[in-house]
Amino acid sequence: MIGVTLPETRAQALELDRADPLAGCREDFVIPEGVVYLDGNSLGPPPHSTLDRIRRLMADEWGGELIRSWTSRGWIDMSTQIAATIASLIGVRPSEVAVADSVSVNLFKLLAAGVRMRPDRHVILTEEENFPTDQYIAQGLADLMPERISLRVVPRRELAAALDEDVAILMLTHVDFRSGAMHDFFRWSEAAHRVGGLVIWDLSHSAGAVPVNLAEADADMAVGCGYKYLNGGPGAPAFAYVARAHHDQFRSPLWGWMGHADPFEFGPEYRPAPGVASLSVGTPPILSLAALQCGVETVAEIGIRRLRAKAMELSEMFIAGVERECRGHGLELASPRNPERRGNQVSFHHSEGYAIMQALIARGVIGDFRAPDLLRFGFAPAYLRYADVWDAVDALAGIMDSNEWDQPRFRVRAKVT
Ligand SMILES: *Cc1c(COP(=O)(O)O)cnc(C)c1O
Repeated sequence: MIGVTLPETRAQALELDRADPLAGCREDFVIPEGVVYLDGNSLGPPPHSTLDRIRRLMADEWGGELIRSWTSRGWIDMSTQIAATIASLIGVRPSEVAVADSVSVNLFKLLAAGVRMRPDRHVILTEEENFPTDQYIAQGLADLMPERISLRVVPRRELAAALDEDVAILMLTHVDFRSGAMHDFFRWSEAAHRVGGLVIWDLSHSAGAVPVNLAEADADMAVGCGYKYLNGGPGAPAFAYVARAHHDQFRSPLWGWMGHADPFEFGPEYRPAPGVASLSVGTPPILSLAALQCGVETVAEIGIRRLRAKAMELSEMFIAGVERECRGHGLELASPRNPERRGNQVSFHHSEGYAIMQALIARGVIGDFRAPDLLRFGFAPAYLRYADVWDAVDALAGIMDSNEWDQPRFRVRAKVT
């Protein structure tokens, strides 16, 4: 990876694409003509297989077999099948993963269960840099049981010092959504266990992006997102992992009929299904699950190691290109320089970051902006070409050289950035 740089000419970038063994994977995805999509870390694009699957599901299964499809088309087992594929991507057993709800809701379930698994502890520890929803969910839990739990939030550099014997749960996001900086699983599992606490990981920017081996890292629990690198579609169901060793003590706080040991017994008392099956709450969203299944399978079939290697190369080229072609324009790298220490995204600081990103999007280079000043670019290499990186750098350099971003229309803030 050392010395990877952006080709001088577009023709050279196209040459790299011709030699790329992953080049054909782009055909698996729907990507509009003329778009360089550097936001697959926020919303993955649809695989072609999803379009076909949803069409058939609507017409033949829902429309054709109606309610019989729960059994005849296996709807009732769909989330378990997807969980097994996700398990293979995060290095754990199929029986340790559930697919349901959103990341936020799953995190609530795991935090509440985890607090109960450490009855003598009263602190959830996290870092200020963590994704807001993760912090809000923990705040909400502390608000629900103030005498039982409190949230301790410290800057990343103070985490180690704040991890003491009051801590029930260390809650961290593996890849930082702003900078892309990646935590060391081993270090934090070991540190949390040394003081007798549990560790819960958020894999939203890791699953489908970087090789993850939660079993090897001795992780206790985890959550992750279906609509980012897993290409499951907007608002796709999320996943949750609970290590086998905890299944006997684990008790989800949300008791719904789909998490019951026998939902169709319609009995008056809740009896949890064994293991992670109790994480299901209400009726699974079959349309969304079908889309998630296609997205997850597309990634799993390509193979996570090959994807990661190319993502590292593309992001290295992008950084080198921006630093070479946009020098003097105030763009400052916000991500770790060592590709081993960041996920598949790269961010740059710029005080006019919002307007610059809007100008880029107007040119068809789609990244996103994160307050207060970050331009964020994701490298999901299943559908990205070397020429796309070249084009993105070229567009950014053009916008910076000409001050194209400096227009009122690029300063209008949308609800979603
Ligand atoms: C995207 C993301 C989420 C999303 O949560 P939802 O409840 O599924 O919307 C949560 N945590 C992190 C770190 C994320 O990046």
